Amino acid sequence: MSTKRIAGPEIERLIQLLAKVPGLGPRSARRAALHLIKKKEQLLAPLAAAMGEAVDKVRVCSVCGNVDTVDPCTVCSDPRRDPATLIVVEDVSDLWALERAAALSARYHVLGGTLSPLDGVGPDDLNIKGLVSRVAAGGVREVILAVNATVEGQTTAHYITDQLSGLDVRVTRLAHGVPVGGELDYLDEGTLAAALKSRTAF
Ligand SMILES: [Zn+2]
Repeated sequence: MSTKRIAGPEIERLIQLLAKVPGLGPRSARRAALHLIKKKEQLLAPLAAAMGEAVDKVRVCSVCGNVDTVDPCTVCSDPRRDPATLIVVEDVSDLWALERAAALSARYHVLGGTLSPLDGVGPDDLNIKGLVSRVAAGGVREVILAVNATVEGQTTAHYITDQLSGLDVRVTRLAHGVPVGGELDYLDEGTLAAALKSRTAF
């Protein structure tokens, strides 16, 4: 290493690890580390304790693939949610995003990614078999494919639709179109074309 060290190995390590957090680069990691060190009692110690507890307790839900500290997860064991509606998402972050929207009180199924032959991701690498057996077990009337509007997301949606085709379930997907508050002039051609194709009655 050619750069001069400015702190002991424990602090250097803290900065290196913080730099791996999404949204933090080396510069923000240094700022965050310094802030944590300065607020040792109010922030660093409780954060370390919370992280230690998370390490011990975090697990993947055996039903839906969500992450939580209980299994089945809080979402799966919530009796107020409609068990007949299953929202399929690529990642836990999508589940959280949809929950923030609070439009439906449904159950979820987290795939853990998308089909991507170029990256070597096949059906067995995703939580697809678990989805098919959940639906095959009965009680699910609608599967909503809330995958990203990317080539991989759409490929995955088609594959799942195929896998569910023999089962008595309605498969739907999210609408593609004009975002709320969006101005047509600013939209890309793909979004505009999709919005026109999936137009609805006024
Ligand atoms: Zn769950």
